Amino acid sequence: MYRKTMAAVLAAGLAISVNGVSTYIPAQAQSAPASSTAFDNKIIKKISADNMYNTIATLSAQPREAGTEGELIGAKYIKGKFEEYGYETELQPFPIYEAIRNNVSGTLEINGQSLNPYVFSGSYSGEVTAEIVHVGLALDGQVPDNVKGKIALIERGGITFVEKLQNVIDKGAVGVILYNNAGTGNNVGVADPGQNIPAVSITRAQGLALVEQLQKGPVEAHLKVTGSGFVEKTSYNVIASMKPNKNRDNGQVVLVGAHHDSVSGGPGANDDASGVSAVLELARVMAKVPTDTELRFVTFGAEEKGLLGSYHYAGTLSEEEADNIVAHFQMDMIGSKDAGADNPAGGLIMYTIDGQKNLVTDLAAAAGARTSEVIPYGQLGRSDHQPFHELGIPAALFIHSPVEPWYHTPADTIDKIDKNKLQQTAEIVGASVYQIARPDTPAMEHARVAPGPVPYEFEDRPVQ
Ligand SMILES: [Zn+2]
Repeated sequence: MYRKTMAAVLAAGLAISVNGVSTYIPAQAQSAPASSTAFDNKIIKKISADNMYNTIATLSAQPREAGTEGELIGAKYIKGKFEEYGYETELQPFPIYEAIRNNVSGTLEINGQSLNPYVFSGSYSGEVTAEIVHVGLALDGQVPDNVKGKIALIERGGITFVEKLQNVIDKGAVGVILYNNAGTGNNVGVADPGQNIPAVSITRAQGLALVEQLQKGPVEAHLKVTGSGFVEKTSYNVIASMKPNKNRDNGQVVLVGAHHDSVSGGPGANDDASGVSAVLELARVMAKVPTDTELRFVTFGAEEKGLLGSYHYAGTLSEEEADNIVAHFQMDMIGSKDAGADNPAGGLIMYTIDGQKNLVTDLAAAAGARTSEVIPYGQLGRSDHQPFHELGIPAALFIHSPVEPWYHTPADTIDKIDKNKLQQTAEIVGASVYQIARPDTPAMEHARVAPGPVPYEFEDRPVQ
């Protein structure tokens, strides 16, 4: 699961076209009792928590930060497993841009006085001498034309750093001095790749003094940034697909996802080798099961950098392909013995982007009733269900909430993994996926074994 840091603001602004809502019609009222598991036995009896545990042990042997050798080792391992199970498999590379932080320096001289500014993360390296123009918060549509060829003095607040920077770049500014909106620090500011003017930050006191000077007359500044910018790296998605027998194919696709990257220096056993382990296990179990729906298992890269892999993948789908995807199940952090507090079902919850029920939560609540417990739903983004929701695809995140104290630390290790939690989550997701994919659905009204919908509740449960 992704924590939105300043660096992660980089992720903003990826455009995805929005399609119509999926055409899948869930089964309506059924007569069979909710406790019947016979319906699911083809899948859930074969799910092995030991297999999942072993996958986590393998993947968490080293950190898998996106763009590093560790990620590639993990991605290749996952690809090999999918191939072993008979899936058509693709390693999908995509570029990620990482701000350079070593040997970055910035100088700012105003009226012969030298300030010690903070250089925006990822700031363009360059040198300018120009007059300063105060542009306030640099809000959309409020940047004056006279900033052209000048250095923009901007107050922090209201919109993101990247947006402020873009608003003055669009007006022709040649540099940026941002002043803080509180406190005594100056270490704020983030630039996007392609925002090619030097940008630095100063304290609030320095900024207000400059605003005062500007009221008396023009002020010139010499601004220089060196060593800063971005390096391009490659992250990967791993995509595995199994199409149904041609004469049964209903053209629909169900997606099951997790992210294989970890945070820097973290082994990411629970975040999210656990989700990957369930994706692989469900792929293994479902490989030989007849379906009328394409099964597509995807592990995403660069989730921790701001959902970059899932946005990339979603961006490669044509409108028609996206329309054919009827559901996305995302599993992220599904195995920690220390997560979930005292909540029922070990704290397992389904989060949707809009806080509304959808096909995925309906199916999984019913599957929970049959296999273990009904699980509640809540509202949260911060994982790879986000881009699919934006495409109009019913999507939900499965996670134990609140998260464990080891979240995003080097202590997110295999010894914190609970096999029962892995098993429970994989069974619920597996039974749900199978309900969509099995050949006798969605015409399930006629199947006497078909399970019915169950009531389940919204919970306003914070994840941290
Ligand atoms: Zn995470």
